[in-house]
Amino acid sequence: MHAPPIDLSTTNPLGDVEAGGAAYEHLAGGDPPHPGDSNVYARLWNPTVARFEAAVAELEGGAAGVAFASGMAAMSATLLAMTADGRNHVVAVRPLYGGTDHLLATGLLGTTITYADPDAIGAAITPQTGLVVVETPANPTLELLDLRAVAAAAGEVPVLVDNTFATPVLQRPLALGARIVLHSATKFLGGHGDALGGVVVTDEATAGRIRPVRAITGGVLSPFTAYLLHRGLPTMPIRVRAQQESARIIAGQLAGHPAIRRVFHPSLEECDPLGLVGPGRQMAGPGSLLAFELVDGYEAAAAVAKRVRLITHAVSLGGVDSLIQHPAGLTHRPVAAEAKPNAGVLRLSVGLESPGDLLADLDQALA
Ligand SMILES: *Cc1c(COP(=O)(O)O)cnc(C)c1O
Repeated sequence: MHAPPIDLSTTNPLGDVEAGGAAYEHLAGGDPPHPGDSNVYARLWNPTVARFEAAVAELEGGAAGVAFASGMAAMSATLLAMTADGRNHVVAVRPLYGGTDHLLATGLLGTTITYADPDAIGAAITPQTGLVVVETPANPTLELLDLRAVAAAAGEVPVLVDNTFATPVLQRPLALGARIVLHSATKFLGGHGDALGGVVVTDEATAGRIRPVRAITGGVLSPFTAYLLHRGLPTMPIRVRAQQESARIIAGQLAGHPAIRRVFHPSLEECDPLGLVGPGRQMAGPGSLLAFELVDGYEAAAAVAKRVRLITHAVSLGGVDSLIQHPAGLTHRPVAAEAKPNAGVLRLSVGLESPGDLLADLDQALA
């Protein structure tokens, strides 16, 4: 297929009642349509969304994708599905995306949470644990986790890896022992900052548990948005690699800047103590997100966010244009004090602008 069509119909002809009922049963129960089934209703199944799901599943090396209206809708439905059998305890490693941390810390969905250090995951697991949730690199300061070690520590308990920062171009967690990979598709998958979505990739049995939750709670991806997100995928490898090369240059330059105490980027030796980044390793490259801490703390960070001109002061990441934001004040605002990023830290998502222009902008903002 050259360019996929967009199927906007909210409902679909059913044939006779028996056939319609059987199709409904399949979809509401978590199956893809059986051969000859009607797609029934767009909250249950949409071909444009299914095409995007299949594409992401292939990129992640998984059997099935399940797409949602946002990354947080994907996280919510997955948490509900994986804890529906009463095993409502979740083990997670901080730092995490602020929204995920907030959702787990509040227990809004009936889950309980133990935040564990990476080497204490095994000890934190109880017979009630339904899911282990990790992020690597983690939002916002790019901490890295050894995913094989996480999977080994989790044992029989399924591991969910938020792979939003790495993308399948650089890291494929399912091959390293994860059961579920999650993306905020809003970020690198779409890549252009104009489409909000989320997707999980997993085995068919687990997808079969997650789809009914999506059908019931209704956090579905719109077909228009699925089309846009799908359109982002063919350029993702070149976007990710080009943005990564610029980030490498910028991280190296900022590391020597007198106004900066510390730069966080997996290309820097001190940020990859386990040697997880590089060709043939867990993560093929360091990615295009970086963070840096200002010597003069919050005031200096706020001033930089205000002074940038080419770079936009805005939340979100992974698009073709560079964005800078203050995690403690914005994306990680709801996170508990003990886990909040340092107030002097800014996070930079490096886009496709010339690295020289980006460095010049940062230089004038830091001056
Ligand atoms: C943005 C983000 C999310 C949430 O995704 P939305 O599409 O904004 O709901 C989850 N995890 C990470 C790592 C993110 O950056």
